[in-house]
Amino acid sequence: MKLETIAIHAGNHPDEHTKAVIQPITLSSTFERAEDGSYPQGYMYTRLDNPNRRSLELVLSKLESGADACAFSSGNAAGTAVFQALEPGSHVLAPDDMYHGLRNSLLLVFKGVLEVDFIDMTNNELIQSSIKSNTKLIWLETPSNPLLKVSDIRQISNIAKPKDILIAVDNTFATPVIQAPIFYGADLVMHSTTKYLGGHSDVLGGALICKENNTFWQKIRTIQQLSGAVPAPFDCYMTVRGIKTLPYRMKGHMENAKALAKFLDAHPKVEKVHFPGLESHPQYEVIKKQLCGPGAMLSFLVKDGEKAAQAVCNKVKIFTQATSLGGVESLLEHRASVEGPNTLTPKNLIRVSVGLEHIDDLVADIEQALA
Ligand SMILES: *Cc1c(COP(=O)(O)O)cnc(C)c1O
Repeated sequence: MKLETIAIHAGNHPDEHTKAVIQPITLSSTFERAEDGSYPQGYMYTRLDNPNRRSLELVLSKLESGADACAFSSGNAAGTAVFQALEPGSHVLAPDDMYHGLRNSLLLVFKGVLEVDFIDMTNNELIQSSIKSNTKLIWLETPSNPLLKVSDIRQISNIAKPKDILIAVDNTFATPVIQAPIFYGADLVMHSTTKYLGGHSDVLGGALICKENNTFWQKIRTIQQLSGAVPAPFDCYMTVRGIKTLPYRMKGHMENAKALAKFLDAHPKVEKVHFPGLESHPQYEVIKKQLCGPGAMLSFLVKDGEKAAQAVCNKVKIFTQATSLGGVESLLEHRASVEGPNTLTPKNLIRVSVGLEHIDDLVADIEQALA
């Protein structure tokens, strides 16, 4: 089946008793045992499993063509579960341009537990030469946050496979609609479902999807169930609801993003635009092979520096100055001041999540803010 069909039907279990077309929310924390001690529907306790979580996991694994999925209470909980599943003393290669929350998880939570090097994941020779005898994981985020750098998943997995190194891809910016990491050789896919999958900025969540249900994956399932960073049934329902329109929302998001990127690229007050849809993008050849569209995240550098960038953020009227992304409303933010003191993000960079408003209104708003 095609993605549009999977997004609507996979994992939805219509209610047997009422014939409700949409699966109801099962809030019960516990499930009744049969006389023989078994659990007739396979559910025992909601931290371990729940009908709405199972539905969410099913649609996620189908969307990413994976073998299984684990849903978490946030994207950070999902990413952290991968780091937790590694043996202490393992070496991890992570991107130098990466979601700051997971970067800080590696730096602060796993300090003294994992060895980490942050490198440029668009430089395959550097990746090859950074591998050590204890390297167990290459963490990719592509397109990256906030510079929209693109890693060649196939090439990097060809480097990693002979050395038994896992490849995990944070696919939050791309979504399964435009990038299929498992197809290109990834072992694990991660999402902050808070973003495009939920799609309406009203529910937090995260997920991991595996290529194979192996012993490493079983360890992740154990971490999900025992650490207990699981999403509530209502949150699972909201995320499943958002996913139904994901393929169509992405079409609109991308159409708007292409037009806005083009406008910004030609604007005299803009120094540079980072967007996978521009032919000037340094990894344009990889993008043509690996992505079915440019996504709808972009960032740009304002010519007159940090103060000028902040002034643009303060002057917009339709865009909201706020962090996060992937909702129907357009957001922008001065990224360096969100990421904190150890950031490499340029001080004059504005990150934009292009929403689904009419493009003429979005362009007019940015135009008056830059004026
Ligand atoms: C938001 C985000 C995360 C973290 O997800 P939360 O749901 O906020 O915990 C991880 N990676 C990327 C690329 C993100 O945008």
